Parts: sequence; C-alpha cells; structure tokens
Amino acid sequence: MTAKERLIVALDVDSLEKAKELIDMLSPEVDIFKIGIAPFTGFGGELLEELSSRGKKVFLDLKFHDIPNTVRGASREAARKNVFMMNFHCLGGEEMLKAASEGAREGGGETILLGVTILTSMDKEAMSKIGLEGEVEGKVLELAGSAKRAGLNGVVASAKEAREIKKKCGEDFIIVAPGIRPEWSQKADQKRTLTPKEAIEEGADYIVVGRPILQAEDPLEAARKIINEMEGF
Ligand code: C5P
Repeated sequence: MTAKERLIVALDVDSLEKAKELIDMLSPEVDIFKIGIAPFTGFGGELLEELSSRGKKVFLDLKFHDIPNTVRGASREAARKNVFMMNFHCLGGEEMLKAASEGAREGGGETILLGVTILTSMDKEAMSKIGLEGEVEGKVLELAGSAKRAGLNGVVASAKEAREIKKKCGEDFIIVAPGIRPEWSQKADQKRTLTPKEAIEEGADYIVVGRPILQAEDPLEAARKIINEMEGF
C-alpha cells in the first residue's frame, strides 16, 4: 500500500460548503474521507453524492448498533452505495456483527467492515458502570476477536493496540487508527497519540486524521507532510 492510500481525512465540519471547500483543496493528495455522525445527520446524503461524483472513497463512521436485522439493512445499503469502509459496535454482539457481514455481501460491494471495540472515551471505571469488568485492553482484544469470528475485516483502534490485535486476529486483520498527531500539531483533546510514522511502525494499516489537517494554515501542505512521514513503510 502506498502512503497516500493509508490516509483518511475526517470531514468533521459543520456545513456542506465547508466540506466541499476542503474536498476541493485536499483532492490532489487525499482519496479517502471519513463522514461521522454529525456531518451525516446534517448533510450526509449530499456529502456522499459529492464525494462519489469526484471519485473519492468514503469511510462511513456511523458505528451502527441495533438489532441484527436492522444492521443487516444498513450494511446492505452502504455496500450498494459502494461505501469503502464502515463500522459497527462490537458490543452489539456477534450475531449483529454476522448480520453486518451478510448485509454487505447482499449489497454486493467490497466494503471494508470494521468493528469498534471500547470507545477511547471510556476507562475501566466507566466500563464497570455498565457491567463490563476487567481491564480495557483485555476487553478490546476480546471484542476484536468477536469481530474477526463474525467475518469483519478489522477494527478501529489506537495504533498502540495494533500489534496485540494482529497477534490475536492475524496480520491481514485491518487496523484503522485515529488519535494521530504529527510532532508539529496540537494535541487538543486527544491524549494517547502517536505520530503518523509511529502508527504505521506499530502496525496500523490506515490512519484517520482530522484537526491536524483541517485546522492547519495550509491543509493540503499538512496532508502532504503526513503522507511524506509515512513514506517507505
Ligand atoms: O481531529 P482528530 O484528528 O482528533 O479527529 C479524529 C477523528 O477520529 C474524529 O472524527 C473522531 O471522532 C474519530 N475517532 C477518534 N477516536 C476514536 C474513534 C474515532 O478520534 N477512538
């Protein structure tokens, strides 16, 4: 995979105009864009059309979690739209994850299906409050295993967990890593960050980058620098 193919830019903006501006600006370097629940709720349909008309790939980051039949439908619709990547909460259970894989097959696309294990906003105490006992790391691995058994292609995870997850689920199990901060950018609310180069060295296949690019004075130049940093892996 080339360094360029590993970069996913999170389109975390509050209007379709801003999203279009960014896509225009970043187009020469960036091929994959992530749409999260906020922009999707605001203007998701138009944004999907905009990206597909420009031949860009979409990571639909909607983290589905519902009864298996409903999730199967969501997955099928995304595959029909040729979405490149989408994700599901592993806590929805293995049956739900299997339905997600079946739905994608029915839709006929080649969508990469990812599990979300434990949200990075949760710690041991927060897990315990909803009845999940034990260490976060152990639970992340357990849930990654359930994603693998259900036929998903990988998980969204910190690159710091990539090695352990690949050891358990196989080298070809895809790791998509957010929480990336080049040395020259602000950390903002992300705490356990890695640089793009470190993330790839740790075994991440793709990196998700938002603010270091979106808030840069020159977003295209920021994307270029990040790609250069990953070159050679
Ligand atoms: O701006 P920043 O680079 O922190 O954006 C990271 C993106 O990845 C955001 O869209 C955020 O919602 C997402 N994400 C994350 N941590 C996770 C899962 C997703 O930061 N564990």
